[in-house]
This record gives sequence, C-alpha cells and structure tokens, in this order.
Amino acid sequence: MVYTLDYLIERIKESEKPYDCEKIISAYELADKAHEGVKRSSGEPYITHPVAVACILLELCMDTDTLVAALLHDVVEDTDVPLDTIRKKFGDDVAHLVDGVTKIGQVPLNTKEEQQAENIRKILMAMSKDIRVIIIKLADRLHNMRTIMYRPPEKQRKKALETMNFYAPIAHRLGMYAIKEEMEDISIKILDPYGTKAIEEMLDLHKEQKNTFIDIIKERIRDRISDIEPPPIIEGRVKSVYSIYKKVYIKGKSFDEIYDVYAVRVIVQTVIECYNVLGIVHDIFRPIPYRFKDYIATPKPNRYQSLHTTVIGREGIPFEVQIRTQEMHNTAQYGVAAHWKYKAGISGKVAGEKRFDWIRQLLEQQQDSDDIEQLADAIKVDLAPDDVYVFTPKGDVITLPVGSTVIDFAYAIHTQVGNKMTGAKVGGRMIRFDYELKTGDIVEVITSPGAGPNRNWLDIAKTGEARAKIRSWFKRERREENIAEGMTTLEGELRRNSIVATPEFLLDVAKMQRFDNLDDFYAAIGYGGVILSKIMQRVKDMYNASHAAQVMTDGEEAMTRNIAKKQKSGVIVEGIDNCLIKFSKCCNPLPGDEIVGFITRGYGVSVHKKDCVNVVNSSPADKERWIKVSWAGRGAESDGYNATIDVIGEDRTTLIADVTATIATARFPIRQISAHQLKNRNCNIIVTVEVASVEQLNALIQKIKKISGVISAERTGIV
Ligand code: MN
Repeated sequence: MVYTLDYLIERIKESEKPYDCEKIISAYELADKAHEGVKRSSGEPYITHPVAVACILLELCMDTDTLVAALLHDVVEDTDVPLDTIRKKFGDDVAHLVDGVTKIGQVPLNTKEEQQAENIRKILMAMSKDIRVIIIKLADRLHNMRTIMYRPPEKQRKKALETMNFYAPIAHRLGMYAIKEEMEDISIKILDPYGTKAIEEMLDLHKEQKNTFIDIIKERIRDRISDIEPPPIIEGRVKSVYSIYKKVYIKGKSFDEIYDVYAVRVIVQTVIECYNVLGIVHDIFRPIPYRFKDYIATPKPNRYQSLHTTVIGREGIPFEVQIRTQEMHNTAQYGVAAHWKYKAGISGKVAGEKRFDWIRQLLEQQQDSDDIEQLADAIKVDLAPDDVYVFTPKGDVITLPVGSTVIDFAYAIHTQVGNKMTGAKVGGRMIRFDYELKTGDIVEVITSPGAGPNRNWLDIAKTGEARAKIRSWFKRERREENIAEGMTTLEGELRRNSIVATPEFLLDVAKMQRFDNLDDFYAAIGYGGVILSKIMQRVKDMYNASHAAQVMTDGEEAMTRNIAKKQKSGVIVEGIDNCLIKFSKCCNPLPGDEIVGFITRGYGVSVHKKDCVNVVNSSPADKERWIKVSWAGRGAESDGYNATIDVIGEDRTTLIADVTATIATARFPIRQISAHQLKNRNCNIIVTVEVASVEQLNALIQKIKKISGVISAERTGIV
C-alpha cells in the first residue's frame, strides 16, 4: 500500500461524501513540507504515516477536520511548526485536535499496574475535550502497529505492551471492536510469538474443515430465513487470535473447549427479526444451556448490542451465532465512531440522537464547564461502571470495584495502612467504615501504630484482597483469641444443628479440613480461614454416619442396644433431635419416671431419674449441662427398657428357678441375673429384665413378691 496524496483523494472521492478536499490538500502540503527528508523505519517518507492515519479515519467516515488533524498530528511534536500556525491556517477545531493528540502522546505510559488507572485517566481527560482526539490517536497507533515489524525488537515489545495495556482497552471501552481486535492480534504476536504460532497452526490445521463447516451452517440458516426481506446478511468468521489466545493460555481451556472459535453472524433490519432468527437458529441447532446472552435487552456499557447464542451443529461442533440489526452491527464495528460514519454527516456536528446522548452531553458540558477533571470522572463512570476511582490526599488514583469501602481503599494502598486504620475521612469529613466510596472521593485514612483490624471488617470489605489481608492479620496476630473465638463459634453452630460432639468427633472434623489438631482448627474458624456455613452440611453427614456406626458397634451391650430401639420415640431431649441417648446405670429410668438429661462429654445425653442420687448431688459447675428431657408418647411403651430388681429370699435352692420362671411366664426377657448368699444365709438375686414401663415393672415386682420364700423385691439402680 502506497499512502500518497493521490491515494487519499481517490478514497475520498469514492466515499461520495462532501469532504473539503481543498482543506485536506492544504494540510497535506504543510505536513509534507514539515516532515521533508524524514523517513520511517520502513524507509518510506514520513508523510506516508499521517496519510495512512487519515485513510483509517476516512474508513470510519470521520469529518474533514479530523482528517486534517490526522495529517497534521505529528507536525507540532516532531517539527518546528508551532500550534499557532495550524490554528491560523485551519481554525480552532483542528488546532484543538492536534494539540489533544500531541498531549496524549506525551502522557508517559508506565506499564506498572498501579500507574495504569492514572494513565487511562489522563487519556480520558484529554478525550473529554473532544472524543475525536482519542479516535485519531487510536488510528495513529493502529498504523504504527501495522508497520511495527520495521522497528527494533525492544521497541516492538514496548509498543506492543502499551497497545495491549492502554489503547486496546480504550478501543474496547469505546466499542471500536475492529480496531481493538487488530491491535490485540498484532501485539500478542510480538509479546508471545510461540504461543500465537501454536494457535495459528491449530487454526490452519482446521482451516479447510472450518471453511466447509461454516459454509454448511450458513446455508442451513439461509434456507430457513429466506422469507425475510431484504435478505439478512450472513457472515462466517473465526475468532480473533488474541481472544483464542486468552482462552487457551489465560483461562486454561483446551482448544476443543473453545465454543466460539467458529462464529456465524446474522445481520437483519429490525429487533423483532433478531428474536425471530434466534428462534429459528435454536430450532435448527441444539443450544448449549446458559450460553445465550441478550445484549439487546441489556446492552454492554459501551453500547454494544447483539444476541449471542452457542449451539451445536449436526457435526457435533459448537459454534456461536450473533444476531443483530445493521445499526447494532455498525456500532459493534465502529463504536462511538459509528456516529460519524452513519449519522453525523461530514460536518462533525453531533445530532440529537438518543443513544449518543452521552457523547452529546459531554461535548455540550465541556463548553460551559471548566472543571475538566469532573468531566473526566463522569466519562470514566460511563465507560467503566464496574469501577470507582478515588483519590489519596496526594492525588494518586486508586481504582476499586463499585461498592468498595474505606477498608478496601486502605488495604489497596498498603497492608499496614489497612491494619492500622482507626478512622477515615472523605472530603475532610469523618465517615463510617461501611460508607460506599464514589468516584472522585478524596479519602484520607487515619492510622494508629497499635491498632488492628476488627473482625466485622470481613463483612464490610468488598474486595477479596482486603478480606485476605484482614484474615491473614488475624491468623498471625491473634492466635489465642482466634482459638477462643473459633471454639465459641463452632459450639454455637453445633448446638444449632443439634450435634452433641465428642472430642474424637471434632478431631475427625478438623482432619477432614486438613488440620492436625483442634487448636489449629479453632484458630482457622476464628480468623475466617474456615467458613463454618460452608462445611456444616459435611459435618452433619459425618455426625449422622458416626452415630449410626456407634450404635452398631455397641450393639452387644444391652444398655446401648436399647438406645437404638428408643432412638426415635423413647425420649425427647428438649431442643435436640436425634441425639445419642444413654440410660444411666445408676437409676435405670423407665417410662413414667420423672427424668432429666445430662450432656456427657463424649456420649450424648445420659438420662437419669429426677430423684437419682447423682442428680441430687451433682456439682454446681455442671449446672449448665442438665437439660430437660421427657418420655415420648404412648407408642414408646412397646419398646423395652432395662430394669433391675433386687430380690431377697430365704435360701432355698429353688428360689432362683422360681423367680426366673415367674418373669418368663410374665413374658419379660431376662437380660442379666446374678445371685449370691448373704451373711444371714438369705439369698440375694439381682435380675435385669426388659420392660416397657414402670407399670409393667411394678406388676412384675408384685408377682415376685408373691413367690414363696421371697422376703423383699424392689427396683434398684445398682446392677
Ligand atoms: Mn503518529
């Protein structure tokens, strides 16, 4: 491509728009003379560059003054022609544009991340004077990138980094996708030649397959929408190299996982047609769930509108379909520049069209507002609604997500500033920590050397960064406090979930969370490293499982076997469902007895009779551990409970047989029996039987008392 004046004039004539050719030629002549003798790295005369930039802007249908300014854009900076000369010759408008482009060029682009916001801020401020300034600058950079191969390697890298970090994001924010994608593709090839080569090879590998594939898809869609007039435009395309690069190398997806390597675009006339075509596409191909995006109903902040859906063809290959109107398509291609291309005509005057209201307002405001900084803030909010820009008292810019608080701000400045913060001022006034920062706020953090963060900051902070720093402070500085806090929190949570946990069980839970000991586990809960709400379901499952296992292991023991039987309907423990229950051996309570429960350390709740000696004499220290329990309803009576009867009789050899026979006749199972001779030669039989209630037991005792030779028979707690 030879960028000469003739070429430019020819393109202008082809555009059939009323450009002021005389003014353009005159600008060319001034620039040509000023740059005389200077060559580009490519060896071409320098003037080819401004002409190329003007051609790019012509493609965007920018107005005469923009083209004139493009031709002159390097004159003030690189030659000795003063701005005044340009103003006198071409007017204020052009002088403004040239000045703006020159100033943007002078913003030092520090690629350090913390400087990025400030640089973008400066660029946006320049832009706020006239959005055409940034459009010229983007065209300038685009041409420089197209010819970057003539520069030395270290320059290439530097320019590629700048382009990636500043110009492509700005093109994106202005919705100028075509320029953005070209910039990114050139830059990434320089920054990672091997990575991009791999992607290009993959794309090449599939090239033939791809072309047939896209052709078939297009044909199938065209067949079904042939009745739409005028016929929709159907385009097939492959994603930009950089967008694939990002998915493969940054998001770590495999090439097969990238759904939208292939894309088909359908351009129709009306919004209704968009949705009709969507319905037809979903009828022909199977849509992938959750991949449909309606940017028509909810446009992107940069005004991008389109329907996106990803579907699977008969061939099993997923591809993206974008459906939009011609107008949406223009905006998608050219962003804010679409305004000049399709609406404004050549004068550059901004029409009162609604969707460009924001630009119009900016340009209007700019005339009666001296406060450019304020204006820049307004644009920033409009372009990046996800971020707020706030300032330190020294004027440094801190970028934070919307909703951020001074806590996020303080930690964004420095970890120690966050940790030692005791208060904060916005615009000189003290504010609460939960105050939501707004763009333009000047925030002053008050610190004190001995201070430390508060636990509730974890709930107030919005950024993950601040929360991580707060947690790590607690982790380091407050171990004892964390352990105590963690223990209390865990106990409360266990109680809420009716879990009566043993130390062994807690250790199992801790190990499940990869802690060797309980203190570390408690400490982690304390500083927020372990979020209980996230693990409680697993703890409950573990508890239920271990509980079931316990019942089975101890099944041989009568005392415990009863527990299994009674679990559901025997005893109701107030406030706790389904807990491990044991009947105390000291008093062997039976249904009908007045009972209380005692929370044991490690064996659930043990149930005692209210008048049990252990209840009456229990230590005041254990007062908290006694809880109300009661017998469940009548249904429980069919289940058996162990009761022990102490029988004393004359030493008759048949007494044991008589007692067991009586019990067996009454159909009560005998669980245990022992007998021994007392000093007075009487016999003592202690027998444990299974009964359903106190009434049954009393009836049995009456029967035993009637056996000949029996002196006494009574219920006892001692086995
Ligand atoms: Mn230039």
